[in-house]
Amino acid sequence: MKYHAFLIKYAEIGIKGKNRYLFEDALVKHIRLAMERVEGEFEVKKESGRIYVQALSDYDYDEAVDALKHVFGIVWICPVVQLKDEGYDKLAEQVVEYMGNVYPQGDYTFKVHSRRARKNYPKDSQQLNADLGEAILNAYENARVDVHNPQVLLSVEVRDTCINVYSVSIPGAGGMPVGTAGKAMLLLSGGIDSPVAGYMIAKRGVTIEAVYFHAPPYTSERAKQKVVDLAKQVSKYTGPIKLHVVNFTDIQTAIYEKCPEEMLTVIMRRFMMRIAQAIAKDHGAKCLVTGENLGQVASQTMDAMAVTGAVVDIPMFHPLIGMDKEEIVTRARKIGTLETSILPYEDCCTVFTPKHPKTKPVLALVEAEEAKLDVDALVADA
Ligand code: ATP
Ligand code: MG
Repeated sequence: MKYHAFLIKYAEIGIKGKNRYLFEDALVKHIRLAMERVEGEFEVKKESGRIYVQALSDYDYDEAVDALKHVFGIVWICPVVQLKDEGYDKLAEQVVEYMGNVYPQGDYTFKVHSRRARKNYPKDSQQLNADLGEAILNAYENARVDVHNPQVLLSVEVRDTCINVYSVSIPGAGGMPVGTAGKAMLLLSGGIDSPVAGYMIAKRGVTIEAVYFHAPPYTSERAKQKVVDLAKQVSKYTGPIKLHVVNFTDIQTAIYEKCPEEMLTVIMRRFMMRIAQAIAKDHGAKCLVTGENLGQVASQTMDAMAVTGAVVDIPMFHPLIGMDKEEIVTRARKIGTLETSILPYEDCCTVFTPKHPKTKPVLALVEAEEAKLDVDALVADA
C-alpha cells in the first residue's frame, strides 16, 4: 500500500508559548535535512499544531522511515494514506481496503476516531465512527470493537483537500530537536564512547561541533579517517557536524620528554581540555562533552577527572558517566557507530600510555610538573 504522507508526533511537555515555535521550527529544519538523504521529493510543513511530511513524488518508504527515525524530537511517525473525497460510500470502501492491507490477519480489536476539519462534510464525527466501524465489522468477521483499549486506533480526518487515514505509529528517536539547547564542543576520538556521548547530548537538543586530537606519525591517516567517518555517522542524528582536527604531536612529545611517565596521561588530557575550551569559546559552544565513564580507566577516576577538569572554566558534560560498558556498546550498535569504533587503528592516547598511570593524581604536583612546559605557547601553536 502506498502512504502519501507522514504525520509527525512530538511530545509537548515544556514547549508551551514562545518555546513551542522554536521547538517546531527546529524540528521542521531537521526533518528537512533528514529527508534530503531520501530519494524523492518531499514537502515538510507545519499545519495547525502538527507537522506533516508530504511526499510529492514516488519514494522509498523504508528509506523515508529510517531518515525520520534519526530526527530527535519525534516521538511517533505515523504513515498516512490520503484519500480523495469521492463521497461517503467510496470512503467506507477505501477504509475497509486500508484495514485489509495493513492488518491482513484480520484479527484485532479496533476503534474508529474521526475528526472533521471541514465541517460541511455530510456526516459528523459520531456518525462516521459508527458507520465506518460497522463497515469494518461487516468486512472482517474476526475484527471486534473495543472503545476503551483498542489494539488498532484508526484515525480518519476529513480535511479541506483530502481525507487522512492512519493507524500505524512507528517509534521515533525521542529527545529534543537539535538546535533548541545551545551548542557543545564534543571531544571525539576514534573509540566507542565519545560518539555515543555526542549522540546523547544532541538528543537533548544540543548542536554539536567536534574536536579530534591527531598526532601524526604516531596516529595514522586511517585513524583520522575513522573519526571523520564517526562524525558523519553521528551527524545522521545531529545534522552537520563541524570537525576541528588539531595537531597534537608537539604537545605529546614535549610532555613525553619533560614530564614523569605516570603523569603523561593526565597532563595530556589537560592540554586537550584547554584546546577544546579555546575552540569552544571561538565557536560559540558553551560546554565541553567527553565520553568519560567513571572508573573505566585510570584517567577516569574521580580524582583524575577533577585534575583534568581544573583547567576548564565552562561546564563539562559526560553523558556516559554512570553507564556500564555493556550499555554503551549496545547503544553504539544501535546508532550505527560500533563497527567503525572497533576498527583497530590507534588513537593518540594509546601510543603514549604510561604503564602505571596515577589513579589519584594530586593537582599541585601535576601543576608543578606542567610548569616545565611552555603551556600557553604549546596550546596556541596547536
Ligand atoms: P573513547 O571510547 O571515546 O575513545 P575511551 O574510553 O577510550 O573513550 P579515553 O581514551 O581515556 O577513553 O578518552 C576519554 C575521552 O576523552 C574520550 O571519550 C573523548 O571524549 C576524549 N578523547 C580521548 N582521546 C581523544 C582524541 N584523540 N581526540 C579527541 N578527544 C579525545
Ligand atoms: Mg579512546
